[in-house]
Amino acid sequence: MAREEFDHIVVGGGSSGCVAAARLVADGGHRVLLLEGGHSNRHPLLDMPPGIFKMINGSKFMDYHTTVPQPHLNGRAHDIPQGNVLGGGSSVNAQVYMRGRPSDYNAWDATLRGNNDGADWSWDAVLKHFRGMEDNNRLLNDLHGTGGKMQVSDPGHIDQMSRWFVQAVQGLGEPFNPDFNGPSQRGVGFYQFMNRHGRRSSAAYAFLSLLEGDPRLTVRLQSRAERLIIQKGRAVGVVWRDKSGTQRESFTRGEIIVTSGALITPKLLMLSGLGPADHLRDHGITVAADLPGVGQNLIDHPEVPMIATANGPYGYFKQGVGWRMLMNGLQFKLFGSGRILSAGVEAGAFVNPTDPEAEPTIQAFCVPIVYLDRDTLTLVENTYGLTVTTVVVKPKSRGEVRLRSANPADKPLVSPNLLKHPEDMAAMIAGQRFFIRAFQTEPLAARVKRLAIPDPAKLDDATLTEHCKRFVKTNYHPASTARMGADGDPMAVLDSWMRVRCVEGLRVADMSAVPDINAGNTNAPAMMLGDRCADFIMGRA
Ligand SMILES: Cc1cc2nc3c(=O)[nH]c(=O)nc-3n(C[C@H](O)[C@H](O)[C@H](O)COP(=O)(O)OP(=O)(O)OC[C@H]3O[C@@H](n4cnc5c(N)ncnc54)[C@H](O)[C@@H]3O)c2cc1C
Repeated sequence: MAREEFDHIVVGGGSSGCVAAARLVADGGHRVLLLEGGHSNRHPLLDMPPGIFKMINGSKFMDYHTTVPQPHLNGRAHDIPQGNVLGGGSSVNAQVYMRGRPSDYNAWDATLRGNNDGADWSWDAVLKHFRGMEDNNRLLNDLHGTGGKMQVSDPGHIDQMSRWFVQAVQGLGEPFNPDFNGPSQRGVGFYQFMNRHGRRSSAAYAFLSLLEGDPRLTVRLQSRAERLIIQKGRAVGVVWRDKSGTQRESFTRGEIIVTSGALITPKLLMLSGLGPADHLRDHGITVAADLPGVGQNLIDHPEVPMIATANGPYGYFKQGVGWRMLMNGLQFKLFGSGRILSAGVEAGAFVNPTDPEAEPTIQAFCVPIVYLDRDTLTLVENTYGLTVTTVVVKPKSRGEVRLRSANPADKPLVSPNLLKHPEDMAAMIAGQRFFIRAFQTEPLAARVKRLAIPDPAKLDDATLTEHCKRFVKTNYHPASTARMGADGDPMAVLDSWMRVRCVEGLRVADMSAVPDINAGNTNAPAMMLGDRCADFIMGRA
């Protein structure tokens, strides 16, 4: 077969990869190969905002990583689902639109501007990208844009449970916040979402679909990269396996941009000889560059649920099955309204339980059902209910991703160490205590039958610690496993231009690249990274 060559190759068609590939084609005029390991994103369950709840615990569109047993969680191993589909996380996520806060990015910038030619990562520099990608259906101001490719909307439907939650938290003294991406994160309110009129605005739809039929863009689905080809210190190609199982190779004259997500990107780098030298040798891999930071510094947002059963038919229980599902579908088809317009979560909050005026330490999500991941699924009766999850937004715990073997088909060993750092556990317990009070505050209290977990009669530190260990799960935001860092930082895998150190022609542009996790959900930041990387390659920064 003739040697296949492109201007650039993007490895992983997720949130960041779709944006990077689309920009390089549309704005740079480049010929780009996008290799995506997962499936097509065209499926009704992926399109409709609440479809995630049908998929979260079992679907071909998700890849389920199971952590190694976590000693500090009494040996528990928990799941980390990741998108296995074009659009990646943006095709399967709950669509909550968050960017984090200016201090997140100003802190990155302070770390990264070690040398004079470092890229600018300050809030002002990244805000341009967030605003430019955004088509907001309510807000237009210094912080929000319209006319961008990604549709950002208020929830099309709000369940009454979510409203009672928002009122109860106001009853606890928190202000109503009309925009969590506005001047202040603090308070309670309704999120905005990356969807509109009952249709998800994934990176695949918003960016790639505009280029359908464009001969400059080649998208290969179910095509899994196995390793990068590095010759004389330069990344020149990718070895990948197509849908039929045949191994193939593609080459580039330009750059390779790795965007396979924070759990697979480090695996791919290590299989290519880029990583901690001893670990690579243990697996018989020839070392191309000793980069000890690859796979280290894994950060994820820990999330712990509080679940109450309801004393009436409130929320979304049974709304996705049987005659109720048909009625909801019909309402949507005929009138474009109803529950199908909701991603299943509408309300949330950002609070600091110990110092209300300081930056929030806890994000909360209000989900008007009994909501658990599959490893804790059976531990609470499935009935009408409400789940409030608390998330530590700036966790200090750090984990790692290591190779299980040198076989590309094997999943990596993932150890996120959620809540291992004592400050994370303390913050989580304070968050739980704060929101337990919301269940006991009107108008929510009148609808609560029983707080099932945690036991409201036992809120001492020891019992809450055990509750957190039993139920902590990922908020689905793994990050920072091939992070940018200043010159001289031995654990920095990338420079501030997202270039892999010691190798030419290779960048990482997904959530692996971030020096620290942003306070809030990570999809919009991932897309911003793809957007910036494309600018860097096109020399437009
Ligand atoms: C269930 C769930 C709910 C979430 N909810 C929200 C939310 O409401 N709001 C929010 O902001 N964020 C949310 N997130 C997080 C957000 O979606 C992710 O942080 C974001 O998608 C990460 O983008 P990425 O580009 O780093 O990686 P991804 O989007 O994960 O992209 C990686 C891509 O690489 C592909 N891939 C993997 N291995 C290979 C390989 N070997 N070869 C080729 N391709 C490969 C994958 O299939 C995937 O498409 C959620 C995530 C999940 C999973």
